Amino acid sequence: MHRVGIVIPAAGRGRRFGAAHPKQFFRLNGQPILLKTLRIFHGIRAIKEIVVVAPAKYLKDVERLIRSSRLNKVTRIVAGGWERQHSVWNGLTSFTRPPDIVLVHDAVRPLVTRVIIEEVIRQSARHKAAAAGVRVKDTVKVEGRKGFYTKTLDRSRLWVVQTPQGFRFATLMNAHLMARKSRFLGTDEASLVERLGIPVKIVEGSIRNIKITAKEDVPLAKWLSRMR
Ligand code: C5P
Repeated sequence: MHRVGIVIPAAGRGRRFGAAHPKQFFRLNGQPILLKTLRIFHGIRAIKEIVVVAPAKYLKDVERLIRSSRLNKVTRIVAGGWERQHSVWNGLTSFTRPPDIVLVHDAVRPLVTRVIIEEVIRQSARHKAAAAGVRVKDTVKVEGRKGFYTKTLDRSRLWVVQTPQGFRFATLMNAHLMARKSRFLGTDEASLVERLGIPVKIVEGSIRNIKITAKEDVPLAKWLSRMR
């Protein structure tokens, strides 16, 4: 069995959220979003080590929160960087022992399921890289000139990509190093791997696996979490 590690980036500043504390600490059905997310991964046998990336000024709080929850697979809690990619890099370089497969999952997606996670692990071991996603339902257009649509994309080939994303550890490290070298900033890990010419296996995610980025998402997340 592969040894799986995971980096949970939770170092966003939550500017869009507009609360006193970043959204990853907001409570969903009585539990901070970050803890809800962590518990799902903690319960998966193949996952041996969890690295949490938190905002520098909340490191102590996150540590307290995690230690009091007995999530003993969390081996490191490290400070994040300015962009998400920097935060993930800080996480990747903090494993006590480099895993064979590494997952990356946004702290603010607490409704991910075990089935999705296990499929991402399986497919990333097989194809080097895999990411959850859902097919685009709407027609997607490009704003080519300010205020005007100028082009329509072929919807049958479009996916909205989520996390978890999974990689052979060496593949993701290499992709990060190459991105750093050319100062490329991506909004997910798959985009860094694609640049190396490595295709990323598509894993069917779920429309319930939402990213909580705004206050308005909280009632939706509460409703979705009760629906299971
Ligand atoms: O900003 P975005 O919506 O892409 O955030 C996705 C995840 O990345 C969140 O869990 C957020 O806390 C994290 N993040 C981070 N460091 C940053 C920005 C975002 O860990 N500098």
